[in-house]
Amino acid sequence: MKELHRKRVLVTGGAGFLGSHLCERLVLAGHDVLCVDNFYTGVKDNIAHLLDAGNFELMRHDVTFPLYVEVDEIYNLACPASPVHYQRDPVQTTKTSVHGAINMLGLAKRTGARILQASTSEVYGDPGVHPQAESYWGNVNPIGLRACYDEGKRCAETLFVNYHRQHGVATRIARIFNTYGPRMHPLDGRVISNLMTQALRDEPLTVYGDGSQTRALCYVDDLVDGLIRLMTSDVPPEVPVNLGSDHELSMLDVAREVLRATGSTATVEFRALPSDDPQRRCPDLTAARKHLGWAPSTSLADGLAHTVRYFSQRLAMLSQVSRIDARATPTASLSPLSNAPV
Ligand code: NAD
Ligand code: UDP
Ligand code: UDP
Repeated sequence: MKELHRKRVLVTGGAGFLGSHLCERLVLAGHDVLCVDNFYTGVKDNIAHLLDAGNFELMRHDVTFPLYVEVDEIYNLACPASPVHYQRDPVQTTKTSVHGAINMLGLAKRTGARILQASTSEVYGDPGVHPQAESYWGNVNPIGLRACYDEGKRCAETLFVNYHRQHGVATRIARIFNTYGPRMHPLDGRVISNLMTQALRDEPLTVYGDGSQTRALCYVDDLVDGLIRLMTSDVPPEVPVNLGSDHELSMLDVAREVLRATGSTATVEFRALPSDDPQRRCPDLTAARKHLGWAPSTSLADGLAHTVRYFSQRLAMLSQVSRIDARATPTASLSPLSNAPV
C-alpha cells in the first residue's frame, strides 16, 4: 500500500468476534493495525494468525483506563456483546461503554483521528416500531437486566455526537444488528452459538419463550465490510447508520435452519424467555444503502455453512482442552470468562 493511503488504525476489542475479523481485513489491506483488548471475552486464538504480520500489534489494555498512542483511525468495539457475558458484571459493562467511550474520544480529540463506535440495535430496546429506522428513539427499560448494555451504548452515542458538536471530532456511529459467524465463542450464550453447539452435540436445541420472537442475522464478513465503508464514508458525523441483515426470522425458524445446516436430528426444548427480551427486531437499511451503497450479500445457508465448519473444529478442540483441564483442575471453565454462567 502507498504510504499516502496507509493508516495507523486502532481496533479496541480486536481479539473478540467482530474485532478479530476487522483486524484481519485491515491488516490485509496494508494498514498498521493496533489491537487493544483486555481479553474479558476475546481470546488470543482469534488473532494468533496475525501476530507474525509486520503491520499488526497486540496490546493488553482495558479501555476504561486512558490510552496514549498515535493513530489516524479508531474502531471502538471493546465491550462484551452477548447478554450472558454483559450481564455477568453489569457495572463493568457500563464502565466499558461509557468510560471506554470517553477515553477513546479523548484520544481521537488529541490525535485528530476519525473514530467509529460499535453501537447496537439494543439502543432501540424492545421496539415499538417496525422495522427500526435510525429516527426511532427506542423503548429501553433503564433499570432492567439489559440496561447495563443498552443504556451504556446509548450514553456512548450521546458522547460521540457531543464530542463532534463540541470538539469537532470526526465521529461515525454504526448500529449493529445481530451478527454471527466463525470466531463467535461457542459458549457465549447467543442464539447461534447455543443452537449450533447443541446441534453438533446432538443435544436438544434450547428455544426461549415460544420461539416467535424475531431477529435478522447478518454474516460477519458483510458486517465488517459495512463498518469499513462507514468509517471511510462521508456520512455526517452525528448520523447513526444501521448495519445488519433485514431478513427477519423467528427463533423457531433459526432452530430449523441450524438443524438443516448441521444435519442434526436433535429435538427442540422450550425454556423461559429472559426478561426484556425484544419481541421483534429488524433493521431499516435505507440509510446504509443510501450513504454507503451497502447491503449484506451472504445467504443464511452459506453463512451457517461457514459457521458450522468453524464450530465443529472449535468444539473438538475445546473438548480436548476440557479433558486435559478436568484432569488438572476439576472446576476449569471452557468460557473465556471463568465461572461465567454458560
Ligand atoms: P465480543 O465479546 O466477541 O468482543 C468484545 C471484545 O471486547 C472482546 O475481545 C473483549 O475481551 C473486549 N473487551 C471487553 N471489555 C473491554 C475493556 N474494558 N477493555 C478492552 N477490551 C475489552 O463481542 P463482539 O460480538 O465481537 O462485539 C464487538 C462490538 O460490537 C461490541 O461493542 C458490541 O457491543 C458490538 N455489537 C456486536 C453485535 C453482534 O451481533 N456481534 C451486535 C451489536 C453490537
Ligand atoms: N485520553 C486518553 N488518551 C488521550 C487523550 C485523552 O485516554 O490521548 C482520555 C483521558 O483519560 C481523558 C479522556 O480521554 O480524561 C477525555 O479526554 P478529554 O480531552 O475530552 O477530557 P479531559 O482531558 O479534559 O478530561
Ligand atoms: N435465544 C434462544 N435460545 C438460546 C439463546 C437465545 O431462543 O439458546 C433467543 C433469545 O431469547 C433472543 C434471541 O434468541 O430472543 C437472540 O438472542 P441473542 O442472545 O443471540 O441476542 P439478543 O437477544 O441480544 O438479540
